[in-house]
Amino acid sequence: MYKLLQQPVTVLPGIGTALEKRLAARDVRCLGDLLLHLPKRYIDDRQTIPIRELQAGDEARTQGRIVHVETRGRPNRKQVVITLEDDSGAILSLCFFRSPFLLRDARLSPGRMLSVRGVPEWWRGTCQMMHPDWQPLETHKGGWQPVYAALAGLPSRRIAGLVQRVIALLPAGASSSLDKIVPGYPPFRKALALAHIPGEQGPDTPEAQKALERLKLEELFTYLYLMKQKRIQAQMAAPPLVETGLVQQMLSSLPYPLTEAQNKVWQEIQCDLVSGQRMHRLLYGDVGSGKTWVAAMALLSAVGSGYQAALMAPTEVLASQHARTLNELLQPLGIEVALLSGGLRVAQRRKILAGLAEGSISLVVGTHALISEDVRYARLGLAVVDEQHRFGVRQRWQLAERGEAVHLLVMTATPIPRSLALALYGDVDLSLMRGMPPGRKPVTTTVVAHNRRSQLADGIHRILQEDGRIYWIVPRIDEEEDGVSVSQREEALKGRFPEAGVMGLHGRMKPKDKQAILDAFSDGACRILVSTTVVEVGVDVPEARLIVVEHAERYGLAQLHQLRGRVGRSSEQGYCVLLPSPEASEASLARLKHMARLHDGLELAELDLSLRGSGDALGARQSGEAGFRLLDIAADAALIRHWHEHLPEFKSTEEMIRFWRPMAESVD
Ligand code: ADP
Ligand code: MG
Repeated sequence: MYKLLQQPVTVLPGIGTALEKRLAARDVRCLGDLLLHLPKRYIDDRQTIPIRELQAGDEARTQGRIVHVETRGRPNRKQVVITLEDDSGAILSLCFFRSPFLLRDARLSPGRMLSVRGVPEWWRGTCQMMHPDWQPLETHKGGWQPVYAALAGLPSRRIAGLVQRVIALLPAGASSSLDKIVPGYPPFRKALALAHIPGEQGPDTPEAQKALERLKLEELFTYLYLMKQKRIQAQMAAPPLVETGLVQQMLSSLPYPLTEAQNKVWQEIQCDLVSGQRMHRLLYGDVGSGKTWVAAMALLSAVGSGYQAALMAPTEVLASQHARTLNELLQPLGIEVALLSGGLRVAQRRKILAGLAEGSISLVVGTHALISEDVRYARLGLAVVDEQHRFGVRQRWQLAERGEAVHLLVMTATPIPRSLALALYGDVDLSLMRGMPPGRKPVTTTVVAHNRRSQLADGIHRILQEDGRIYWIVPRIDEEEDGVSVSQREEALKGRFPEAGVMGLHGRMKPKDKQAILDAFSDGACRILVSTTVVEVGVDVPEARLIVVEHAERYGLAQLHQLRGRVGRSSEQGYCVLLPSPEASEASLARLKHMARLHDGLELAELDLSLRGSGDALGARQSGEAGFRLLDIAADAALIRHWHEHLPEFKSTEEMIRFWRPMAESVD
C-alpha cells in the first residue's frame, strides 16, 4: 500500500510539471500527501429540494431541465444566464459573469437535466443563483461532500476529483502494518476514504471520528517507534567534555552575570557532558530567557576539549544571527565560528566542508545544511539544536549521528507540559530554565475587535515617532482562503504610514532577500515589517515595540506567546495586539483574552491544552508545528500520552516511516 501512496502526483492525469512544482511547494509530492490534505469541512448534500422550496440566502441543491441559454447585460458586464424549469413549472436562473465559454459547453444545451448547488436570491421576481456549482444530473452523486482548502491554485472540486481517483487506485485489500494492531478502528484504507467522504450520517459521528483518529494513530505510531529506536542509540558512552577555562573567559567578557536560571541549567548540562555517557537533553527556556549563552558554554566545552561542536538553527536568518552573536563573543577568545547555510556560494561551501572534514573548523553554525549528505565532521563531540519544534525528530538526531556518540542538546521555547515532552522527545532529560534576565517588563497584550481596528493608528504613530519597530503578522499562506496576504497588507500599510518604510517578508523569499529586509528593519530603514510567522523563532531586534497579529485566533496560545516574545526585548515597554477575524467564535476570543493575563509560556501551554478539546481537529490545527501532518500536539495530547504509555509491540516498516515523514523537511 505504501508503495502506491509514495508514487509521485504526476501519475495522475492532468498533473504536469508546472503543477507538480507548485504542489511540491505546498509539501504535496506523492499520492499519499494528497490524501492527507483532508477536507476543512463537509457539506450535507444528501437532499435535493424542488425550486419552489428554495429559501433566499440558504445554500441548497436543486435540479431542473434547461429551457434556454443566453447572454444578457451591458457589453462590459455580460453574463451567461441559464434558465432551469422543474416538473412543477417553477423557474430558476443561473447567472455567470465572465464565463462565455459556458455557451459552448454541450452539457448545457437546452433539454439537458442539471443538478445545481448555490445560494438562491430573488431578483425582479425570479429566483436566481450566482455562480452555482453545477453538473449534469446523471453525474451528481449526493451524500456528504468534502470542501478542501485550495492547494497550489487547485480549487476544492478539482482536489476532490483527484482524491477520489487516488482512493480508487488503492486495491480493496490494501492494508497497513497497523491494521491488525489497533482493534476497534477502521483499517487504514477505509479510514482514508471516510476522512474524505464521511458515511451517510456525516462527519460528526463516532464512525467518522474513529476514521480520523485511525489516520492519526498511523502517524503517531510511526513516530513513537522511531523514538524508541533513537532511545536505544542514546544509551551510548560518549567522551567527557570538560570545562577548560574557555567558558570562564567567555563569562567574564559578558557585560552581566548569568541569571540564576541560566546557572542552574548550565550545572545540569555540565554534569551530562562530563559523565562519559551521551547527553540527550531538552532545554526549555521561554523566549528571551537567554538560551544562547547556555548553548555557547556547551559549545565551548566541546571545543576546549578538542572536539568539534555544531549549532543548528531552523532558518537561515536565525543561523546567521547566531553566527554573528557567537563570533562577536568568541573571536576575542581566538575562536572562529563558521556559518554553513543553504545560500553559500559553491567555493565558500567547499572550503567550509573541507575545514569540517579535516578538523580545522571547530565551531560551526548552520541550518539543516549541517546534516546534508556531503558534510563530514572530523570529530564532532556536541550537537546543539535550537528552536527544535521546527525540526522533526529525524533531523534533530541526524546531526548527533554525524560522529561517534555525539552529545545532543535540544533547545526550545515551545512550552510543552512535562508528560507530553517525554512522549514527544523520547526519554530526554529535561532542563527547565524559568526566570528572565533582570529588567524585562511583561509585554502588554490586548485583543482588539475587528470594528475597533482604526484605534490602533495613534499608538502606531507614537511608536514610529520614537523610532520603534513594528511587526505585523499575517497568515502564513497567501492563497485565497487564508484572508489577507503579505503583499496586500504591505500595500495597505504603505498607504497609511508612508513614513514607516513598510516592507514585506515571507518564507518563500530567497534567504539573501530575507536577510536584507531584516537588516533594514534592524537598522530602521524599515520600521513596519509585514511578515508571515517566519519571524516567530528567535529573531532579535531590540527596537521592536509592537507586534500586531491578524487572524490571531488561528494560532495556538504557545505560538502567539512565541510571536509576542519578539517585542519587549529592551527596557522599553513592549505591546502585542491580537486582531481576531470577524468570524472568530466567542470561545476563541475568550481563549485569546488569556494571553493578556498570562505571561509564562509553560502556564499558557497547559491552559491551551485544557481549553482546546479534540473537537476542532480539523479547524485550528497548528499543522506542521512539530513536523506532524495530522497530529496536533495540543488537541491530541491525550492520544499521544496514552499510546506513549501503551505502545504495542509492532514492527514498523521503513516504508511506513518514509511515508509519514513525521519530520517536516524544512520550515516555512
Ligand atoms: P532566547 O532564550 O530566546 O534564545 P537569547 O539568548 O536570545 O534568548 O537572549 C535574549 C536577550 O537576553 C539577549 O539580548 C541577551 O543578550 C540577553 N541576556 C541573556 N542572558 C542575560 C543575562 N544573564 N543578563 C542580562 N541579559 C541577558
Ligand atoms: Mg534563541
